[in-house]
Amino acid sequence: MTITLNTKIEQLSRVGKTVAGRLKKLGITEVHELLYYFPFRYVDYSKKVLISQLVAGENVTVLARIELIKNRRSFRKKTFVTEAVASDESGTLKVVWFNQPFLTKVLAPGDMVYLSGELHPEMGEFQFISPMYEKANEDPTHTARIVPIYSLIKSITQKQLRFLMKQALSALHEIDDYLPLGIQERYHLTNLSFALQQIHFPKTHKDIERAAERLKFDELLQQQMKMELSKKYVLESRAQALAFHEKETLNFVRSLAFELTSDQKKAAWQILKDMQKDRPMNRLLEGDVGSGKTVVAAIAFLNCALNRSQGVFMAPTEVLAFQHYEKFLKFLQPMGLRIALMTHTKKMFQEDVIKKDALIEKIKNGDIDIAIGTHALITEDVLFKDIGLVIIDEQHRFGVTQRKALTKKTIEKKYQPHLLSMTATPIPRSLSLILYGDLDISIIKEMPKGRKKIITKIIAPRERPEAYSFIAKKIEAGEQAFVVCPLIDPSDRLGAQSVKEEYERLRKEVFPHLSIGILHGKLKPKEKEEVMRSFQENAIKILVATSVIEVGIDMPNATIMIIEGAGRFGLSQLHQFRGRVGRSDLQSYCFLLTENMGERTFARLKVFLSANDCFELAQKDLEMRGPGEMFGEKQSGFPEFRIARFTDLGIIQDTHECAREIMQSQDQYKILNEYLAKTAREVHLE
Ligand code: ADP
Ligand code: MG
Repeated sequence: MTITLNTKIEQLSRVGKTVAGRLKKLGITEVHELLYYFPFRYVDYSKKVLISQLVAGENVTVLARIELIKNRRSFRKKTFVTEAVASDESGTLKVVWFNQPFLTKVLAPGDMVYLSGELHPEMGEFQFISPMYEKANEDPTHTARIVPIYSLIKSITQKQLRFLMKQALSALHEIDDYLPLGIQERYHLTNLSFALQQIHFPKTHKDIERAAERLKFDELLQQQMKMELSKKYVLESRAQALAFHEKETLNFVRSLAFELTSDQKKAAWQILKDMQKDRPMNRLLEGDVGSGKTVVAAIAFLNCALNRSQGVFMAPTEVLAFQHYEKFLKFLQPMGLRIALMTHTKKMFQEDVIKKDALIEKIKNGDIDIAIGTHALITEDVLFKDIGLVIIDEQHRFGVTQRKALTKKTIEKKYQPHLLSMTATPIPRSLSLILYGDLDISIIKEMPKGRKKIITKIIAPRERPEAYSFIAKKIEAGEQAFVVCPLIDPSDRLGAQSVKEEYERLRKEVFPHLSIGILHGKLKPKEKEEVMRSFQENAIKILVATSVIEVGIDMPNATIMIIEGAGRFGLSQLHQFRGRVGRSDLQSYCFLLTENMGERTFARLKVFLSANDCFELAQKDLEMRGPGEMFGEKQSGFPEFRIARFTDLGIIQDTHECAREIMQSQDQYKILNEYLAKTAREVHLE
């Protein structure tokens, strides 16, 4: 039978219903899927030696003759031991396997075999313990070469998968390299069928590298094509051109208690310019914590409202939505804007609580200029008169789907809204190209005037009392503190501080004379709001919280951030916590507490203390943790790669450039274009 890329897995030799079922669990039903199931590491058995040359501690292969082989039961445990003696021209070797009694049926005296493994000096005697074995042949699969190791589910073995993979390789001759030679040459790539061959059964380590490079390139090129397509989609849709109202904007800026930084002005200018076009804005506003993104958003909303168009602001949590609501009220109500809040649990219009139906009616009639809320804005039964501008805070990727969902929520469906995402998570270049390759980016680097560098320290357990008395003094002077803990309940996981315990401890033992609040995700929305308000009014002096306070919250009077179990958080997360203080001209502090600090934790915290800017931190965090953890586990939506890494900056940049060229030269790369457009769509355009 000829094996082709589309051959069903059941048709391969030694695949029955059971094995096919198991392979299906790995996502493999046809040969091409098998070929794209890559090893995650290799063991190098390619070095061949004579028995007399064997030394302990190195992976090698000997070619030997089985002299003797037999099973016995070990006395102590009920295990089978297979013992063999093997020899070559230079000497003999003792070999032992455990619990593989069938071996005496597979191998017989006189057989020439490859034995691959590492030698163990056992009781003064050299032994091969459980080596890989394979009858000697021209093209060994499991021994005498660099051997692939796959991540497997139970009930499929490495040997089984390698055996199937070998069969699948015969379909490679069919592979038509979709990537034109010119591109392969320019980026120094090998051809696809070589790459697929070598990724599974490489000849040399160099070949693994070359193969991986090509396959990563393919994967990332597809991702970049997806970005390009999404960009194209936006370019082809229409938006309302929202005119710049200079006089009112200047009035608003003059009404502020502070002067805008030049980065804020520049960002606002770029945004307003985008909004004047009849193509939807697709922009990311990236600015470190506390750099003042909210006021830039307010300027954009003001202009939207002056065009009699509605604005939508989406925040990731109810707490944050409420805080923004109060901010925008303060900023924009004096300018005559009508502002509403909508979360699942709370609906407000101007300062008052309002019934859901009444609010929905107002939104529909266009009596609301800005609707602020959580995802409730998308999920609840709201219909807007028309949406001119959507601003999303702190959600790393607000996809085309949600944009479409919001567009559907307008009576006037002709237009796409302008879209601005805001984030304080500094994003390394590589990740930004993967996640935001389709967005225009504005960056606020400069901090508002008068901000002081936050003094950050690691506090050893014995220094706790000193730290506490320092805090007490600051609180006496009218300032406030946050205490962040990794967990809510003591029972959640052993060995880490929980908010509840810490709250009790601080209240009863450390600061009995101070009012202390507690904030975590299990509180009811009303309770959360109450706590936040008391803290804002300085009635609560110390707020003990989980990572719910991680994003966005703005409490300029808080100057101390204590992070318990600091070792459990990633660098970017620590940076976000720290960003909750230092939001006024008061000197602020960040204390990192961690019990039993291991070396790695210490090294990581040292990076946190020493890194100069947030981009450097983000890059380090990406290298140490990967993007999922960097942004917090909740935020899904990261592309999943088989082989590419988020740190492959060189290849990411190359594919970014390449994808743009392909899109622009539609005629030259017609076939390639069609292929990539198809696969990009298959990896579901968000
Ligand atoms: P973030 O960019 O983290 O969202 P915010 O928009 O919450 O930051 O702003 C942080 C604080 O700085 C707020 O209290 C805000 O009023 C204040 N602020 C913003 N811009 C300036 C500025 N140019 N000068 C002084 N304070 C500012
Ligand atoms: Mg913010």
